[in-house]
Amino acid sequence: MVSRLVLVLGDQLSPGLSALRNADPARDTIVMAEVMAEASYVRHHPKKIAFTFAAMRKFAARLTADGWRVAYTRLDDPGNSHSIVGELLRRAGETGAQQVIATEPGEWRLIGALEAAPIPVTQHPDDRFLCSHAEFDAWAEGRKSLRMEYFYRQTRRKTGLLMEGDKPAGGKWNYDSENRKPAADDLFRQGPLQFDPDETVADVLDLVEARLPDRFGTLRPFWFATDADQAEQALDHFMRHSLPSFGDYQDAMLAGDRFLYHAVISPYMNAGLLDPLDICRRAEAEYHAGRAPLNAVEGFIRQIIGWREFVRGIYFREGPEYPRRNALGHDRPLPALYWGADTDMNCLSHAVAQTRDEAYAHHIQRLMVTGNFALLAGIDPTALHEWYLAVYADAYEWVEAPNTVGMSQFADGGVVGSKPYVSSGAYINRMSDYCRGCRYSVSKKTGDGACPFNLLYWHFLNRHRARFEDNPRMGQMYRTWDRMDAARQAAVLEGAEAFLFRLDRGEKI
Ligand SMILES: Cc1cc2nc3c(=O)[nH]c(=O)nc-3n(C[C@H](O)[C@H](O)[C@H](O)COP(=O)(O)OP(=O)(O)OC[C@H]3O[C@@H](n4cnc5c(N)ncnc54)[C@H](O)[C@@H]3O)c2cc1C
Ligand code: SF4
Repeated sequence: MVSRLVLVLGDQLSPGLSALRNADPARDTIVMAEVMAEASYVRHHPKKIAFTFAAMRKFAARLTADGWRVAYTRLDDPGNSHSIVGELLRRAGETGAQQVIATEPGEWRLIGALEAAPIPVTQHPDDRFLCSHAEFDAWAEGRKSLRMEYFYRQTRRKTGLLMEGDKPAGGKWNYDSENRKPAADDLFRQGPLQFDPDETVADVLDLVEARLPDRFGTLRPFWFATDADQAEQALDHFMRHSLPSFGDYQDAMLAGDRFLYHAVISPYMNAGLLDPLDICRRAEAEYHAGRAPLNAVEGFIRQIIGWREFVRGIYFREGPEYPRRNALGHDRPLPALYWGADTDMNCLSHAVAQTRDEAYAHHIQRLMVTGNFALLAGIDPTALHEWYLAVYADAYEWVEAPNTVGMSQFADGGVVGSKPYVSSGAYINRMSDYCRGCRYSVSKKTGDGACPFNLLYWHFLNRHRARFEDNPRMGQMYRTWDRMDAARQAAVLEGAEAFLFRLDRGEKI
């Protein structure tokens, strides 16, 4: 029997992977490879690379212990060709294999590379998700617009999660209206479970430090889980300590607490160390056991079976050009502050500093601070997309691009969201304590020291009026603007222009 190669990518670290199910340990060789092409197509955060390589090494060891033959390429192996296809060809030469079994990658770029490879590659569906491409397309077909909420209800019905017969638990599908509390500075929050580096992790940290220097991001201390057992422990810890308050404080931000009640499990889930449906069933069990309230559990489950599955469906339905869409024609270069340049804007300063240190920011920091600012300031969405893809440990294009290009920048013209997520400083002030320590004044709407979000918010609405004024969800914003007297409107717009002028000149803002 001719042997085959089985490709396992760095975000496919699941024992039940479709490629493995379609392979034979007695006959086939698994190929796993740390290659520069993947580590460098955007300048990934060092923690993200270290997490991926360490988790890959441990998964390879587990496969070997399970009886598989694994051809594993380390980044510094002398024969490393430094691309995925290059490594497949090299291993084919060594083993005589003439075909490859793979699971479909989560990025069009790699799907295309495997299709074009000079060796036949069978790409099996990635069925670690609840919704297949065909199922999403069937749901989407014929709908005027695609809204997460309806997709989510269908997935609740399909899985039976939080269902009482054919009715949603508690009578409502969505408890978001209860989930918008600001958080008090509380010293007793547990935060995510952290792990000391073991030998595998320590080796990888040394490697990343030596081979990938000068990248945005702090490598040490490194505390992520890097195998399925640790990821399980991190999940347990979240269920016990944070899930009960997850809902209430989901949108809150605090300068002194980078994680609040968030799970910090997206890197683990996206790499394949945790199974999404299993996570949701466990959260549901916490509700039934009376240990976590419905608003928390419903909110948490919605993020996973709703948003996570929905954005993946959009990414694959919209096609390879999706990440480069620019419906609003924004073309300002990404400001240096996103790479850590000094800024007086305290909210941005905190969100970027924690991104640099942790390769993590929670959803509202990504959406309403870094994303909101970029949208209001008219930053090129492709440049922003590459930034998000590089700096977060959980970032893979299938999930990052629809969140950035769609949800956060409206650059897809409204495929993901029905209106742009924009806000003035008032929202950030309500949901965080950032404004207290800021040089700008959130209560000032014009003049020296006015919060830049207050100026840019109206500038954005004004410059995109033709597109948005008839949007029923935005009419109120335009009516408020129209009620402002002309002198005040002029002062706001002049203030915004002056701010953007300084931004373009590279001045500290
Ligand atoms: C501009 C922007 C870029 C983003 N890029 C990514 C990304 O590259 N990778 C990524 O996994 N998430 C991304 N998100 C979604 C979300 O911010 C992260 O999933 C979340 O912050 C991960 O942290 P957590 O595990 O503590 O999440 P929690 O707040 O504890 O939520 C639990 C889980 O729900 C899922 N989830 C929550 N919101 C979303 C969402 N909008 N889309 C998909 N899954 C969601 C995640 O798997 C997460 O682990 C992005 C959001 C925005 C606004
Ligand atoms: S005042 Fe404005 S810039 Fe400063 S922290 Fe608040 S929202 Fe951010």
